[in-house]
Amino acid sequence: MGDWLVSAYDQNVSNDGDSLATSVEREALGLLRSLFGLPESFEGAFVSGATAANLVSLATARQWVMERLGHDVSEEGLWGLPRPVVLGGAPHASVLKALSILGMGRRSVEAVPCLPDRPVMDPKALESRLAALGGAPAIVLASAGEVNTGDFDDLEALGQLCRRYGAWLHVDGAFGIFAACSPAHEQLLRGLAHADSVAADGHKWLNVPYDSGIVFTRHLALQERVFRAVAAYLGQGPDLLHRTPENSRRFRALPAWMTLMAYGRDGHRALVERGCALARDLGEGLAASPHYAVLAPVKLNIVCFALRSGDAARRDRLLQALQADGRVHFTPTQYAGRPGLRAAFSNWRTDAADLPLILAALEAAASAPPAG
Ligand SMILES: *Cc1c(COP(=O)(O)O)cnc(C)c1O
Repeated sequence: MGDWLVSAYDQNVSNDGDSLATSVEREALGLLRSLFGLPESFEGAFVSGATAANLVSLATARQWVMERLGHDVSEEGLWGLPRPVVLGGAPHASVLKALSILGMGRRSVEAVPCLPDRPVMDPKALESRLAALGGAPAIVLASAGEVNTGDFDDLEALGQLCRRYGAWLHVDGAFGIFAACSPAHEQLLRGLAHADSVAADGHKWLNVPYDSGIVFTRHLALQERVFRAVAAYLGQGPDLLHRTPENSRRFRALPAWMTLMAYGRDGHRALVERGCALARDLGEGLAASPHYAVLAPVKLNIVCFALRSGDAARRDRLLQALQADGRVHFTPTQYAGRPGLRAAFSNWRTDAADLPLILAALEAAASAPPAG
């Protein structure tokens, strides 16, 4: 309903004080900051999704790195400047897209070795890489919720290393940041406050309609050096348009504000805990199945699994059968060298009554004779 109102009301949220909309955006950002357990030193803005939130974060990180090296990228561009050092374990495809857009290049990421059997950086390996830089600034790309496993980088360890060696810590928390809503899972985010920038999605676990991401940084002045738009007819105040790629801005904050007011901390806690419990139970159901094997421990709301036997072509036929069945949707993936499937729970309408149905659809698809 909030989203319908946004379209009908059609307010441009760029300049403060034009209407109540900017105040609602600021209030929604404050509520989300508190829901995620971020300190007040983080300033936020609504953008179109976590891809855009990663983009804004890394543009600000790029500005920081280059200022440390004596250059103002927002004014001079990147021409002839040194390559910044970018270190990451298993960055999301949208982080690489952001590096492409920013002229830094997807290949700018130097892979930091991961911990055994986990898609998260080995802090010792990161430390030796940072120490070898001899004080040169670097950008470290961390995940709070890796897409195949829902696994988390050790943000406390990474954050301390980044402080000690003078590196920028970016945390992609698109869905995983919602672990903060659940007392049983919030320790996965320990150390999040060390981050310099954080990306989150509203249109995933907050369950607002698509076109909702949130970026938080502790470096608003740097962010505004990148995103400011100076023109006599635009406001010169602390307006939100100077924080984001867009100048004219949709009132994305309203559906987020409405859901936060309607369900509150307890409602969002229940939603997150339900998704995690469903993932745990699906993982147990699959482990007991003759057809399936779970590929990684269930950390949060994602189950990464595979057929016990068969190649990627058989997995693809299985996905087609599930899609034709129509009761449940999975995405394909590749994990630990195996063609797998991914179940990610985040929709508010999915509940415990769906679990037998999900398992039945999976068993039926795996038992069906191969087509044609
Ligand atoms: C979904 C996701 C993104 C991209 O978000 P969009 O909302 O699709 O732009 C980035 N990072 C992670 C970890 C995600 O799960």
